[in-house]
Amino acid sequence: MGIGRRGFIAAGVAGALAPLVRPPAALAQKFEGTANAGHYRFRIGDIRGTVVSDGTLSGNPRIYASSAPPDDLNKALGDAFLPTDRFTLNLNTLLLESGGRKILIEAGAAQTLGPNGGRLFANLAAIGVRPEEIDAIVITHTHPDHVGNLRGADDGVAFPRAAVHIPEDDWTFFIRNEPDLSRLPMPEDFRRAFIANIKQSLAPIAKSVVLFRPGSEVLPGVTTIAAGGHTPGMSAILVHSGREQLLITSDAAYSPLLNIDHPWRPGPDLDPEAATHARKRLFDRAATDRIPVLGFHFPFPGIGNIRIADGGYRWVAAGWQFEG
Ligand SMILES: [Zn+2]
Repeated sequence: MGIGRRGFIAAGVAGALAPLVRPPAALAQKFEGTANAGHYRFRIGDIRGTVVSDGTLSGNPRIYASSAPPDDLNKALGDAFLPTDRFTLNLNTLLLESGGRKILIEAGAAQTLGPNGGRLFANLAAIGVRPEEIDAIVITHTHPDHVGNLRGADDGVAFPRAAVHIPEDDWTFFIRNEPDLSRLPMPEDFRRAFIANIKQSLAPIAKSVVLFRPGSEVLPGVTTIAAGGHTPGMSAILVHSGREQLLITSDAAYSPLLNIDHPWRPGPDLDPEAATHARKRLFDRAATDRIPVLGFHFPFPGIGNIRIADGGYRWVAAGWQFEG
């Protein structure tokens, strides 16, 4: 088979222009190893919020939209210019600073669910925050991607001064017992590693953990909201200061595209019915009260609003703010 017209043109262009389009060595060096910012600053009243990325994880899109008819899912992904075989989720932890205290919402994944997590410490360092400066950490639920960074080097505590607040029902289910995750869409060896990762990540803080039942203000300006279903104890969080609020929906939705703009259910919901009710309660509250939302797994920085439209919901991403 001879070389096609397209191949011929490409080869010709490459041959003629390669020396010209290749960046000078100094320029190439300058760009090597550079990355975009892994943090995003904003305010909730008197509280300074900074979304600090722990990186990303990815999986088959079907995991995150288990109730979607395959053709509809492929079309939605195609219409959004996304691949149909791989879907990327962000890991958006949130640093809250107020009254001289530093509170982290979610600890992030480390590399418990893939090689692209674990950027939290570098991204905190980039804004001048050391792990020992964190006073408290609030975990919405104990899946590995939310607790992975709690275990530091040598199995020690990664945030040595932080009181770690965890929903009691998750602690009972995952740590005090052997959790039955047989209904989650995972191969058996992945399921075993998933459970082991949870137990290993939480072992260093077992003696000092602060357990909570959702529905109360666990720290000033940080109120937990019962949202069980994804896990037994999953809690959403309302951050509030003065008249301003931010609703952290945790894993009620993985993706604005899949779980808000389309009504598809995430596969890893342990109790799908309870999770569906929790999702609806959170979305309705965000839409009715016009509360900005932060989604842990949404495209960075994960902030926007949910509105009610055409019998369902729509995600409206917030515009970039240059002043935080
Ligand atoms: Zn998650």
